[in-house]
Amino acid sequence: MEAAVGQHPLSAPTGPLRRADALAVSIFLIGCHTSQHIRRATPGEDAPCLPLTLNSHAHFDHAGGLATLQKASGARLWVSQGDADIVAAGGAGGYDLGPFRFLTYLWFLRYPAPRVDHRFKDGATIRVGPVEVTAHVTAGHTPGCTSWSFPVRDDDRELLAVHICSLTLPPALSLGEYPGIRADFERSFRTLRSLPADIWVAAHAREFGRYRKFLERARVADRVAPFIDREGYLRYIDSAEETFRKLLADQ
Ligand SMILES: [Zn+2]
Repeated sequence: MEAAVGQHPLSAPTGPLRRADALAVSIFLIGCHTSQHIRRATPGEDAPCLPLTLNSHAHFDHAGGLATLQKASGARLWVSQGDADIVAAGGAGGYDLGPFRFLTYLWFLRYPAPRVDHRFKDGATIRVGPVEVTAHVTAGHTPGCTSWSFPVRDDDRELLAVHICSLTLPPALSLGEYPGIRADFERSFRTLRSLPADIWVAAHAREFGRYRKFLERARVADRVAPFIDREGYLRYIDSAEETFRKLLADQ
């Protein structure tokens, strides 16, 4: 298996990425697939290694390290339209707390604000060297929560990998919503089900059984097989939707 999965935080990053790794929790990062380094370049440059950082959503545990990473690497940062303002403000203005949204402006709830270089739309296809990823805005957890899909080649078969943005229900759903949050979740369940995912990962390792899958990989002949898990993918979506429906029914 090459390219995308090898560069995902599933595997230990090397070189300059390591320093930022402690803060760059679950950041979906594309580096140079040959050198394993990221270097300064401009978007649109026809280079094999365009340094570009993409992440899943604006929460501190997924965006808190972006400014540090940006400083260390010089990488550009592209964020979905829905989350861009929140990320650029270091988390201020997030909708999680509903009517208590003003609390997100307090300094101790914020993270170092990175520079957002570009805002992409739902469905954007982003090419970096040999890797092409497609953005699927699966909003609800945050207004611009972004899942990513990308093909992964394993010898003569091509598999589709999907990085799911979180489907955890934010407190805003019970406290008071951000506009359209219910419709956003409904759309997100539909979007994710429609993707023919073979391999999936999520913003938190436990959600997709990373540890279990890596252990299993050491025991089987086909090292890719433990990661092919469409059932687990659908189960994750089903379980999130069930929690969502239950919460709505209880309200
Ligand atoms: Zn989150």
